[in-house]
Amino acid sequence: MSTTVRNIKEMEMTETHDDTFGIEVILLPEGQTAPCCPHGPTLLFQKVGRGGEKGRRFYACSACRDRKDCNFFQWEDDKVSEARLLAREAENQSRRPVISHEENCNRFRKFVSLPADEKIFCQDCQVLLLPGEREAHSPHKRVIVTAAQLRRPSVLLRPLDNKKSNAQYLFTDRSSHFLLDTLAALGYRKVLCVGAPRLQELIKLRNLEQQHEPMKSLLLDIDFRYAQFYGRDEFCHYNMFNHHLFGGEASSAVLRSFLAEADGEKAVMVADPPFGGLVKPLANSFCLVSQTWKKLQSSENGDAEMPTLWIFPYFFEPRILECLPSFTMLDYQVDYDNHPLYKHGKTGRKQSPVRLFTNVCPRDVVLPKQEGYRFCSVCQRYVWSLNKHCAKCNICPSKDGREWKHCSTCEKCVKPSWKHCQACGRCALPDHPCGEGGQMKQGCFSCGSLQHKRKSCPVRVAQTKSSNRSNNAKSGGKDLSHHPVNKPKSKRKSGAARRAKKLAAQSV
Ligand code: SAH
Ligand code: ZN
Ligand code: ZN
Ligand code: ZN
Ligand code: ZN
Repeated sequence: MSTTVRNIKEMEMTETHDDTFGIEVILLPEGQTAPCCPHGPTLLFQKVGRGGEKGRRFYACSACRDRKDCNFFQWEDDKVSEARLLAREAENQSRRPVISHEENCNRFRKFVSLPADEKIFCQDCQVLLLPGEREAHSPHKRVIVTAAQLRRPSVLLRPLDNKKSNAQYLFTDRSSHFLLDTLAALGYRKVLCVGAPRLQELIKLRNLEQQHEPMKSLLLDIDFRYAQFYGRDEFCHYNMFNHHLFGGEASSAVLRSFLAEADGEKAVMVADPPFGGLVKPLANSFCLVSQTWKKLQSSENGDAEMPTLWIFPYFFEPRILECLPSFTMLDYQVDYDNHPLYKHGKTGRKQSPVRLFTNVCPRDVVLPKQEGYRFCSVCQRYVWSLNKHCAKCNICPSKDGREWKHCSTCEKCVKPSWKHCQACGRCALPDHPCGEGGQMKQGCFSCGSLQHKRKSCPVRVAQTKSSNRSNNAKSGGKDLSHHPVNKPKSKRKSGAARRAKKLAAQSV
């Protein structure tokens, strides 16, 4: 199996995790606070057992999926002693950066004024060294940094490669230039770069060239090494899984003033989260940024959302659209420098699985013709060359960059590697586990039935419905009772269909 396929599979497994193995993130109602780990407020998780029994809820770190990186754990109903709270607070304090952002800014000022041959960077420690500090780093690997290199911290710094929580994949020139050209063409003048240090870097480099209209940018990232290079109005230490600004009120003020669009400069958010990240908390954070943006708007566009580009693999589409229904997935393939297998390619598996999800009108996001994209006038969006419009489905159906084909029995387009299976009554890979049961073997987590999955469980749907209805009653909303309770073919794909899709995708 090639590395690409394996990595994609790992990612799909990660996301499948919160359905199939029954771990859910529960967003806290406003006003309720979670205990904090060194990465800010933790997330509340809950196991959902096979028989539908709800497991005990617990708090764990929002940013680290590996216990080795952050071992915070607390049952929701734990009574935490005063002593333990103090110890925890001390631990959180001790994991703060030793050098504050302000101090980093002073250091940077000193550093740039050093003579060229004294501008030294320690690769082992990933820090810019000031004259008095060289001695201490003499056993380390050090390099002289040029002025040009100082403007490209994403090249100077070693990409973090912690597979589980924080692997950094940096945009190729092709992708970062495309993003920037697109944002400029759409008229944005302020770019909030969430986990996108290379984009911020490119914005600043372009401003120096003075050939384009200047753009402002603010980087929000958990990688504090960037505080060495950027001022306090250019970088905020941020956790995108819990919307936590480590710099507190001062950072919130920086973010608010950036989002304010003071001189009619339109703002846009571009986020490129780690692919192992959970969709729900990410979506929640982006909504919170959007809400802040909206509060700062002049009241004209009442229900507008902040324009956003979320960069993520295509197989998260159902999950992202579930959380952010106003978003669309675009065909553009984003690729990465230090991920040799996530490359833009014409055909086959070498294509990057990473796409743009956006609430900007797809018609307005022009994808480059010279790279093989074209405009579909029926779909009113730009699509990849192999994504042929299907007259029967009336869409350009391909998600993965390959040409899909129509199955007249299933009445939809499917992956080219799939064949229609009479026994299963649907299209699947030729070597799928065939016959009755097959994909359904695991049954429903809520009631144990083998006939459906948890997402389409009549019991569960009925429960959700009744709680929705009471909420709606309060707000004078619509009654939802016309929605079919036991009909898997509802508008949103059932859990079973989604999982089947994922399972199938994994084995291609
Ligand atoms: N393609 C982007 C980098 C994406 S890699 C570029 O070229 O600019 C993911 C980025 O998200 C990294 O910069 C990483 O430091 C950041 N990140 C990872 N976990 C994060 C978290 N919990 N909160 C905020 N940023 C995070
Ligand atoms: Zn943590
Ligand atoms: Zn060192
Ligand atoms: Zn089309
Ligand atoms: Zn079929």
